[in-house]
Amino acid sequence: MRALISVSDKNGIVEFAKKLQELGVQIISTGGTHKTLEQAGVKVTGISEVTGFPECLDGRVKTLHPNIHAGLLAMRSNPEHMKQLEELKIETIDIVVVNLYPFKETILKEGVTREVAIENIDIGGPTMLRSAAKNYQDVAVVVDPRDYDLVIDELKSGNGISLDTKFYLCSKVFAHTAHYDTLIAAYMKRERQDNNLPETFTMTFEKVQEMRYGENPHQKAAFYKEVVNTDGLLSSAVQLHGKELSFNNINDTNGALELLKEFEEPTVVACKHANPCGVGTGENVYEAYVKAYNSDPTSIFGGIVVMNRELDEKTAEEINKIFVEIVVAPSYSEKALEILKSKKNIRLLAIENITTKQDENSYDLKKVAGGILVQTIDSKLLSGELKTVTKKQPTEQEMKDLIMAWKIVKHTKSNAITIVKNGQSIGIGPGQVNRIWACKQAIEHAVEFLGEDSLKGATLASDAYFPFSDCVEAAAEAGITAIIQPGGSIRDNDSIEACDNHNMSMLFTDMRHFKH
Ligand code: 5GP
Repeated sequence: MRALISVSDKNGIVEFAKKLQELGVQIISTGGTHKTLEQAGVKVTGISEVTGFPECLDGRVKTLHPNIHAGLLAMRSNPEHMKQLEELKIETIDIVVVNLYPFKETILKEGVTREVAIENIDIGGPTMLRSAAKNYQDVAVVVDPRDYDLVIDELKSGNGISLDTKFYLCSKVFAHTAHYDTLIAAYMKRERQDNNLPETFTMTFEKVQEMRYGENPHQKAAFYKEVVNTDGLLSSAVQLHGKELSFNNINDTNGALELLKEFEEPTVVACKHANPCGVGTGENVYEAYVKAYNSDPTSIFGGIVVMNRELDEKTAEEINKIFVEIVVAPSYSEKALEILKSKKNIRLLAIENITTKQDENSYDLKKVAGGILVQTIDSKLLSGELKTVTKKQPTEQEMKDLIMAWKIVKHTKSNAITIVKNGQSIGIGPGQVNRIWACKQAIEHAVEFLGEDSLKGATLASDAYFPFSDCVEAAAEAGITAIIQPGGSIRDNDSIEACDNHNMSMLFTDMRHFKH
């Protein structure tokens, strides 16, 4: 029996090779592996002895030779194949142990050049793996060091490696080479720096954790991270306290963070079911938190609270008065951490680059039955200049609040209306099937938690255009004085006229932000 061993990751290889040798297996190896094994006292036949050809081109060509590939691909049950091998003086190879050049590790290194990345694309390794795996009935192919023991145990049993095991090993090969090639494709796509939508869509993800369940307890779930585009902040979060994150935790936190990233100034976002329930900005995190909390002291219970500045003691004390599921901050003061850790069930995450935005060229995916919908991410806030379409211009404060309302509405499920005053969200109407309901809900939200007066001089944002003037009328009646919306309805004039009649200002963004 002959085994060909050619591995980049040499962990465990010496022990494995020794055991193979003890079982009477002849070992063939390539340059570096040969050296490692020989130094450890394993008797090895060099690959060049088998190919009759030197390894060349800096190792680009080592095992790419008919003496290797015919030895792997010959079907032992096919007399023609075996006759040809004899005529060509080629011997069979029965076990292949290969793991590949560390392409992933290479491209994840900072500042790696394209040349270095490309030199780390393994050619001969995947070729050997595929040859061996295609002929799995006759060849055992080991790509995962965790399978070394399995192979040894079966060989020791005296009956050879079973067909079931060989099929299991072969199935791992194709998953491995597919993942490897997809990484290369993803790297090259990233290097192109465009967001064209390709004919076939491949992305590759690695499992970060399995969850106890999915959105509901009867669903299975796991979190996978994208390997090449590592701008997914959640996969770089450090958990400082609390139970493992659940499916909904991750989804909701993601929603909160996407909104938080729109803000430069100290900001706190409270979220529930991936919709914001309270957003506050201020001089510091404490002020921002108090505003976010006061805007809806009910929904924040069991919610997610994220902020873009260090969490200090005073804010921690405030947060500690209620139950929140998750807190995310770039960092925590020692005291703040101590205070929050006093609750067993709170999850505390630190994300250093919390305001890093997603790569503009990344995609948003949505699973539908039988396929996925792919779109470029909604990376922009405004298309260009804001246009005032009413006689009245917004005041400076209204302008600030309008932009804040617009940021929040962008990250609220459609149809959405948000109301903001003095750097505080005072009304959020998320996910309604018609716009006037979202508008009424946002107004009701403000009335319930902050009183009718809070709406006087407030600003309102709508994620898409107003089909009628009803929302403007409702806003005017509540005391709202400025509105921001995309515009673009055939009835825009009705809304503009209504604003003019009520001495309100209205801005058009020329950009819609549906979110589902
Ligand atoms: P070694 O350290 O033994 O010199 O090289 C082992 C690595 O070379 C393995 O990762 C294996 O997949 C890869 N390899 C084996 N044959 C070839 C080949 O013909 N060309 C290239 N580029 N890589 C090979």
